[in-house]
Amino acid sequence: MPGLNDLYQEILLEHNSKPRNFREVEEANKTSEGYNPLCGDQVTIYLKVIDGLIDDVGFQGSGCAISRASASMMTQSIKGQSVEKAQEIFDAFHDMITEPGAELDYDTLGDLETLSGVNAYPTRIKCAVLAWHTMKAALTGDADAITTE
Ligand code: ZN
Repeated sequence: MPGLNDLYQEILLEHNSKPRNFREVEEANKTSEGYNPLCGDQVTIYLKVIDGLIDDVGFQGSGCAISRASASMMTQSIKGQSVEKAQEIFDAFHDMITEPGAELDYDTLGDLETLSGVNAYPTRIKCAVLAWHTMKAALTGDADAITTE
């Protein structure tokens, strides 16, 4: 993917080949499914939330490299965080991906900045945000299946 620098590309591919938290969380108390018909990406997010903290998170599904890497990084970034913090990370990530040129909140984003180059590829944006919208739906209890369309 031209435009993503080599380091970013490397991190992305690494997350794709070894996705973090790629498993069903048996004690999950919040789950949601997402689907991106444009690309065929499917994801199920499992969250175990205790006293406002994301105690555990996992994902399952199949999809392209961007969707898997983004889901993997999402689980890493919200695990152990408060629900409020997870929403903040969602907002920072969403702005970064959907608003090219937006001022980035690097403190909140951390390694997620790796995915910033995706905003140059409109067709891949939905791949990148799928797991995030699905996570948010699980958190907020919106039971309807999420589709990026
Ligand atoms: Zn995709």
